[in-house]
Amino acid sequence: MNCQEALDLLYEIIDKEATEVDTQRVQTHLKRCQHCLEVYKIEGAVQDFIMAKLAKDTPPARLESLKSRITNRLDAIDQELN
Ligand SMILES: [Zn+2]
Repeated sequence: MNCQEALDLLYEIIDKEATEVDTQRVQTHLKRCQHCLEVYKIEGAVQDFIMAKLAKDTPPARLESLKSRITNRLDAIDQELN
């Protein structure tokens, strides 16, 4: 996986429920790539989301709460850029 794929999958993971295989491939990439790790670490929420998604016993409500934190943060970043 290259950086572009990893960043594309960020949105897949948040919005479109990426498969577990894709999520794990992203995890592997993040262990080697500091740049992508920084992007994924937006206030730690994305990393939390990925870890929670990989954990089998995470309640759906917790995933939803993490997801809204991430999308709110991404919206704020978009507004800062505009
Ligand atoms: Zn990368």
